[in-house]
Order: sequence, then structure tokens, then C-alpha cells
Amino acid sequence: MRREWNFSAGPAALPTAVLERARDELLCLDGAHASVIELSHRGQRFGEVAERAEASLRRLLAVPDDYRVLFLQGGATGQFAAVPLNLARRGAAAAYVDTGIWSRKAESEAARYLDVVRIASAAESDYTRAARFDGIAWPADCGYLHVTPNETIGGLETYDLPDDVGDRPVVADFSSTLLSRPIDVARYGVIYAGAQKNIGPAGLVVVIVREDLLDAARADTPTIWNWGEQARQGSMVATPPTFAWYLAGLVFEWLEAQGGLSAMAEINRRKAEKLYHFIDSSEFFHNPIDPSVRSWMNVPFILADAQLDGVFLHHAAEAGLHGLAGHRSVGGMRASLYNAVPEAAVDALIEFMADFEQRHA
Ligand code: PMP
Repeated sequence: MRREWNFSAGPAALPTAVLERARDELLCLDGAHASVIELSHRGQRFGEVAERAEASLRRLLAVPDDYRVLFLQGGATGQFAAVPLNLARRGAAAAYVDTGIWSRKAESEAARYLDVVRIASAAESDYTRAARFDGIAWPADCGYLHVTPNETIGGLETYDLPDDVGDRPVVADFSSTLLSRPIDVARYGVIYAGAQKNIGPAGLVVVIVREDLLDAARADTPTIWNWGEQARQGSMVATPPTFAWYLAGLVFEWLEAQGGLSAMAEINRRKAEKLYHFIDSSEFFHNPIDPSVRSWMNVPFILADAQLDGVFLHHAAEAGLHGLAGHRSVGGMRASLYNAVPEAAVDALIEFMADFEQRHA
């Protein structure tokens, strides 16, 4: 048994130290009589686990007191629908910024419930530059603005918002970038993120909602998708994903022990810059994204000869480098460099790529 470098976009690498701790605690959680997986979500011991995880996340992100943190199921995809349902009474329309495949998925799901208007799009640069916000026509009766700060497939990362957002709450799909760097939570009304990248195992989605946005849901919103109801019931409208919640808590504590998000940002910036620098200096590998909006977390790249894709992936796996295939919708390659991917993994990848180029260019 050997753990090798894992560049998967999600489910993705988790810190080895976290997995070791989970292993050590798996049969019997400290202070309990059983595994955390076997404990009632209503019991005192799991309650402590849940509270500790939330407190650690709040410290990491400096979440203001007037925000509630929810630990839910249904992935970010569930929230694509939950967002319009929960904010329906703020306005009949919603504004979406198109930065790539994920933002468009969010948009099309919302269009089932609201009048959705795409106010800006990165399509004109073929998703290689940020969407331009000059001259935006906001829809009348606009309940919120939706953005996707990091496009996991396209590798476009930007935190820009229009200047004239006003009092429209900004809803952000932070799935593949939450916890990779410090953010100002107060800029957003709602932040949501599927866990299986920087947070923990799949099956959990973290939603951070400003309290004043908890009572705008459509009356027919299913209880399980209703943020207000989930907040009132401590994310326990249904049995929550207890193991994923516990493991996320261990990841949060690991991040605090690394020095928090400023320290992670420094490492993540360095890892990404190294890889982009190598790609840019190579004749054989290419990343099309404008340097100012290149993702630190997901680095897509193509080979000069796409017929070598299979050979590249095969040899990479032999060299202990896994999860490098691009998303099935776009092909090519993608290296995801989440918090748990150490700098040594990036060094190994670059060394492999340089060698591959020498042999095949
Ligand atoms: N949004 C983004 C930015 C994502 O990267 C993903 C998953 N890769 C999703 C939404 C969908 O997440 P889930 O599969 O957890 O529903």
C-alpha cells in the first residue's frame, strides 16, 4: 500500500495527517463508546464534534457573527436549486455571471424558478479572461447576484464584482476555492461549497448564509433545502452526513495548525506560480488563461499533440502522479493543487512534465 501524488479535482487529496488521525479514532472516538460513524447525530458527543468543526471554520474564515454556517447534503448542485428557492421572495429575477461550465449549470438550474439574467460573460474571450462588468443592465426586481469565483473545469479564478451591486446580496459558489486563501465573508450574502475539494469527503456541502437572508424562501421550498429551517434545526432537518462533518472538522483544525488561510495562500500561490511558470516556458504544454485570472487550485493544460494524451496519463501514473485527466467535457489535462497537495507533488509533476517534453516534443 502506497499513497502517491493525487491531483484529482474532487474527490481530492486530503491531508495525510488528517486521515491518520481519523484512522486512529475510527473504531472508538475519544469520549464515546463507538465510532463517530456509529453515533447518533442527536447525541452529546456528536454535538461536540459538530460544534467544534463549526467553531474552527468560523475562526479560519473570520465568519462574522450575523452569518449562520450549515453542514448539508446534496452537493453544490443541490445548492444551485436551493439558492433561487431560498431567495425567491427577494425578487422575481436573479443576475448570473457566466465564467464557465459551473456558473452556467448554476444558472440553468435557477432558471427553473426565477427569471434569470446573464449580466456578464467571459464567453467573448472564450473564458480566458474575467467577464467585463462595464455597462451592466441589471434586471428589475433582482433578488441576488450569483458568481463562481473559481471555475474548476476552465481554471478561471476571479473575485471581481461589479461596482454597482448595491444591496443585492452576492451568492457565490466557492466549491473549489474555499479555504485556499483568506476571503472577506462580509462581501457575500451566501457562500456555498461542496466539500470534496478543500474541505473533506464528498457528501457534505457547507453553506454560509447572512441571517437576514434566512427568511426569503418560497413557501413550497422543500424543508430539507430551506436554509432558515436548517439553521433553526442546527443542520439536522434530516440526518446530516456525520462522518463527513467530523472529517471536515479535522481538516479545519489541520489548517489552523498550518497557520490558517494566510499561510495556505502563500503556499498555494507558490505551487501554482511554479506550475504556470513551467507551462509558460515550455513549447509543449499550454494553458490559455490570462495570468491575472489563473486559478491557484485547478490548472488545466493541453499537450501540443493531443494524440499523446493517453501516453502522458499512462506514464504519469507509472511515475506516481494521478488524477491528471481534464474534465470529461473538455479533455486535455488538469492538475488540481488543493491545500492537501504539497509543494513536493508539484515539483514531482513539473519534473515529470519536463522529462516527457524532452522525450516527446
Ligand atoms: N460548482 C463547482 C465550482 C464545482 O467544481 C462542482 C464540482 N466539481 C460543483 C459545483 C458541483 O458539485 P457537486 O458535485 O458537489 O454537486
